[in-house]
Amino acid sequence: MKTEMVESRRPRVRYAPSPTGFPHVGNIHTALFNWLYARHADGTFLLRIEDTDQDRIVSGSLEAIYESLRWLGLQWDEGPEVGGPFGPYFQSERLPIYRGYADQLIASGHAYRCFCSQERLAELRAAQEARKEPPRYDRFCRYLSPAEQEKRARDGEPSVVRLAVPETGETSFHDIFRGEITFKNELIDDQVLIKSDGWPTYHLANVVDDHLMEITDVLRGDEWISSTPKHILLYAFLGWEPPRFGHFPILLTMNRAKLSKRRGAPDILDLRAKGYLPEAVVNFLALMGWAPEDKSEVLSRDELIRQFTLERVGSTPAIYNPEKLDWLNGYDIRQLDPDDLAQRLVPFYQEAGLVPGQPIPPEKLALIRRLVPLIQERIKTLCDAPALTDFFFRDDLVYDPAQLMAKGWTREQTLDALSRARARLLQFIGPPERFGAEALEVGFRALADEMQVKAGQLFGILRVALTGRTVAPPLFQTMEVLGPEKTLRRVDQAIKLLATGATTVG
Ligand code: GLU
Repeated sequence: MKTEMVESRRPRVRYAPSPTGFPHVGNIHTALFNWLYARHADGTFLLRIEDTDQDRIVSGSLEAIYESLRWLGLQWDEGPEVGGPFGPYFQSERLPIYRGYADQLIASGHAYRCFCSQERLAELRAAQEARKEPPRYDRFCRYLSPAEQEKRARDGEPSVVRLAVPETGETSFHDIFRGEITFKNELIDDQVLIKSDGWPTYHLANVVDDHLMEITDVLRGDEWISSTPKHILLYAFLGWEPPRFGHFPILLTMNRAKLSKRRGAPDILDLRAKGYLPEAVVNFLALMGWAPEDKSEVLSRDELIRQFTLERVGSTPAIYNPEKLDWLNGYDIRQLDPDDLAQRLVPFYQEAGLVPGQPIPPEKLALIRRLVPLIQERIKTLCDAPALTDFFFRDDLVYDPAQLMAKGWTREQTLDALSRARARLLQFIGPPERFGAEALEVGFRALADEMQVKAGQLFGILRVALTGRTVAPPLFQTMEVLGPEKTLRRVDQAIKLLATGATTVG
């Protein structure tokens, strides 16, 4: 018993998404903060699927929830797929539990059956709207005698179960981040707890499960603040000690609008598809509404776990700044071990159609690995890599021959430069080590001197000939990776293109 008491003081927190959409950064922000809090304090992070609103379930969203959490490494200790002592962790599998507690609330007079029709409720709402009053149930059924409620329900009349909110007084709670929050009871609606089809609403299921699953801290987004007094009342009516509550700071866009999917909050899996690293996304989300003591901006996962405390969660709005994410992502890409980066790039080259699907042929993986030094310092997202280096994989370079010509140069001058470059290249053919970036650079700088042209002009021509573009990774490293054969072939193709005026090489 004693050990259990000590155990139970460790935080048990949950992420409780509804599978009604694909998780976006705002949702996963909540998951991350709960996870960090649990990991820091050696507690338990639980995943519970709140699927009581069956009409709103979006197909694929459950898998997207799992996938988003897994991609970011936010493994849950209890929940779907991993199980645990407090299951089932799908609310749809717990319906009898909620009905039992609803009955208990009715029996103790803290809830009542409401038989009002949809039409009556719609009229009521319209009248309230016309009077500019907030829409609320007018408690028409609240004072039916228990016997009458019982009889009408037994006779098969459809009904919902509503919370009997006290008509006077106040309901308060202490918010971990915001301090005391008080609501006047007269402003709280008699919330539906059980719908006419017998399914619970979010409020009842959420409270019952947080209690039964021994959640110590409910940490969630600010949009739930107005639900919390209803939850506090439910805990009181059921005779349970409520958990601690904390509502995270509001998340805003750069224009200081509330961050939402509609206002550009990306889905987590979109960030993956766009080439963001999970390390960067975790770091970025952690800094939205939290900061370490030394205010550092770059933190590894372990460092975040070590430093994360609720005391350092702010109460002022947190801004979603996509530029900061880009910066962190570029930074994290530069820190990666080159072999690791090569592996992570594979799906992006596959997606771009530059290398075949799984398993990737070893020579293609080797090529990607050789490209890493050319791009690691330059890319902000993994997606940038294929676009920057596709010419290594394609032979059908398409470019306008005019691009070959340096500013103010004629076709003849350019053709002459290309054939001299070709002759210079031949000097490097031999054992593979001869075709190295450094030696090539020395050789071509010398050629520019001999030709009495600026090195940049000669290099520019070669860059277009070899890559089909004017901006590309460093020229001589590019040559080295392309190898003598391809390099020579592309110079020949450029000569042909310029001589004939064709537009496609290959
Ligand atoms: N199911 C709610 C959601 O979708 C959970 C809110 C809460 O954490 O209480 O976000």
